[in-house]
Amino acid sequence: MQRVAVVTGGTRGIGFSITKTLAAEGYKVAALYHGNDEAAQKCAAETGAMVVKADVGDYAACEKACKEIAAALGPVSILVNNAGITKDGVLHKMPVENWHNVVETNLTSSFNMSHAVINGMREQNFGRIINISSINGQKGQFGQTNYSAAKAGLIGFTKALALESAAKGITVNAICPGYIATDMTAAMRPEVLDSIIKQIPVARMGKPEEIADLVAFLASEKAAFITGATMTINGGQYLT
Ligand code: NDP
Repeated sequence: MQRVAVVTGGTRGIGFSITKTLAAEGYKVAALYHGNDEAAQKCAAETGAMVVKADVGDYAACEKACKEIAAALGPVSILVNNAGITKDGVLHKMPVENWHNVVETNLTSSFNMSHAVINGMREQNFGRIINISSINGQKGQFGQTNYSAAKAGLIGFTKALALESAAKGITVNAICPGYIATDMTAAMRPEVLDSIIKQIPVARMGKPEEIADLVAFLASEKAAFITGATMTINGGQYLT
């Protein structure tokens, strides 16, 4: 049976690698994105995924997108909450909208999307929810009160939903990537990035495919006994 997987922010960066890997493993994949139509069309052409434009911070938009996906591909069995943004700045200078926007896109989004698919998973007696958190949700990061709070919140969300869902064959796990080479990190100042790479024992940034492979494992039948876990994948930069 071909299972249906939804990947938010699935058209670029880590999400694109997840879309590509899950499609290659035989899942029917839908990738959500926000504004970059060109990247979305490229992703669809390269992976065969259905691409859907929807803001993950908008509850009604998530419900509508998940209904469209279920109608086109079938009931959703795997949800990867990957979409995320940064709007960095120290708290004493942070405009309030940068707090709300980052929390909505990185944390409330997981509530919105999980709420839209969880009853379908409960009916199937099977489901996989994989939340992409961050090393900076584990350790905190200067200039990221909004992002660190949202990503730490995602870990608590994961644990609570795992407890609620275990009896229904649904696992819920969080992945905390370290620094991964994508557009998000390419936007950082080169000297900041260099200083971060010096703190990584394996002496390089991670590759999006390395996160995608972990997602694929967690999505599989083999990972049925892993739930409520926080998986650290950061080249040894921060050991928990
Ligand atoms: P990118 O900036 O490369 O890609 C982000 C993706 O998310 C794009 O597909 C984008 O769509 C989508 N997206 C952004 N906002 C929304 C929204 N409101 N609604 C729907 N889709 C949206 O990010 P990365 O691949 O680097 O990061 C992916 C995840 O991994 C994020 O949650 C990030 O916080 C996390 N992470 C990344 C790390 C890194 O080093 N890169 C480290 C740790 C965690 P569009 O193309 O339309 O803009």
